[in-house]
Amino acid sequence: MSFESLGLVPALLRALADQGYAQPTPIQAAAIPAVLEGVDLLAAAQTGTGKTAAFALPVLQRLSAGAPMNGKRPRVLVLTPTRELAAQVNDNLREYGKYLRTSSATIFGGVSMGPQIQTLRRGVDIVIATPGRLIDHLQQRTIDLAGIEMLVLDEADRMLDMGFLPALKRILAVLPKQRQTLLFSATFAPPIKALAMQFLRDPREVSVTPPNTVASTVTHRVHPVDAARKRDLLLHVLAQDSRRQTLVFSRTKHGADKLVRYLEAAGMRAAAIHGNKSQNARTRALGDFKSGRITVLVATDIAARGIDIDQLPIVINFDLPMVAEDYVHRIGRTGRAGADGMAVSLVSHEEAGLLRDIRKLLNAEIEVSNLAGFEPSQPLRVDAGAPRPVQGQRQPRPPRQNKAPSHRPHGHTQSNSGEGHAAGNRKRRRPRRPAAKA
Ligand code: AMP
Repeated sequence: MSFESLGLVPALLRALADQGYAQPTPIQAAAIPAVLEGVDLLAAAQTGTGKTAAFALPVLQRLSAGAPMNGKRPRVLVLTPTRELAAQVNDNLREYGKYLRTSSATIFGGVSMGPQIQTLRRGVDIVIATPGRLIDHLQQRTIDLAGIEMLVLDEADRMLDMGFLPALKRILAVLPKQRQTLLFSATFAPPIKALAMQFLRDPREVSVTPPNTVASTVTHRVHPVDAARKRDLLLHVLAQDSRRQTLVFSRTKHGADKLVRYLEAAGMRAAAIHGNKSQNARTRALGDFKSGRITVLVATDIAARGIDIDQLPIVINFDLPMVAEDYVHRIGRTGRAGADGMAVSLVSHEEAGLLRDIRKLLNAEIEVSNLAGFEPSQPLRVDAGAPRPVQGQRQPRPPRQNKAPSHRPHGHTQSNSGEGHAAGNRKRRRPRRPAAKA
């Protein structure tokens, strides 16, 4: 299968050749012809599958084939859950569209509105926006969405998880009914189906990745360790090849900052990326990581969502995520597009229950190996069926009657079924992030 055979125009084929893409990924092969045909699309694909190009390429082609600028109004709207993802989609659109005359701009919170208003006034074909800031522009009448011909909902499951449904409904209410809508989501869980029923017309469905799977090229390795020795173990693992670009996940923002200070004190070049950092600081950290100025990027789950870094050889979980699905999202940064990847998790005995959840969800082999000098004082119990430890508790076994595990976010109950891929479950279990933050 070649990109030519999908019907893409020479200007796009040239840009793809510049990128070094030899052939379409499965989601691209399925989605591109459908989008070029003009039908609505409901696509199940997660980060790392090439989903961005799957919509960006046909969107660019349809735009360039149509009439030139529709006045100064945008013709395509892409909605994303996070600023980082919006910025990345924009980068990709610019790369793929560099031999076309299409223009694009991002609209997201955390930066002032002035420059965004000026860009919109000058006129732009494609707007990539987070829902919260787009609503601000709608309220101030600084954006006119009456010319939208195509709408892309990227990572729609994440937008729902983050509580953006009311914002989405408000935005969709002002879009022209006559349009093409593309919805991308990691899963086709019931809330996503409901969204599609409401806003898509007779959509073509494509699904290339079963929910909650990771690339088969990723090796999963767990090093049991006492919580108090994790930082030393991290340094030890990083030191094995200090030139290697490594993404490290921390569960909390504070933990990420502390870890960066520790790594810097040990002579490593590191930076943190999380929701309390300004947009400038986040962009700078990501840029420094991509350019190699820093070798370790410490990220929280929400900030890392959508980060597009080519072929990271290794991802380290300093803490395991609270929600097993986030492990899949984290690991989506390695082993992409056929390259080998390594996912290393530093796991203390308090996290055994989280590891069990991940094992059930993954359905993949996880190697558990003690590293000499870092053996834990208590064994890591990962056998299914053992009771789940409670976070912060020093005893390995929680009291039997404790039905609501206290390591889950306040107010969220958790199912122990291990199935966990229904977004309905995810929604209940994942803490809501305020819409205003995006
Ligand atoms: P995405 O799933 O959109 O986040 O893309 C994952 C990564 O795959 C990005 O770094 C893309 O640049 C890369 N990519 C997308 N399409 C292809 C392709 N056809 N061949 C090789 N790499 C690709």
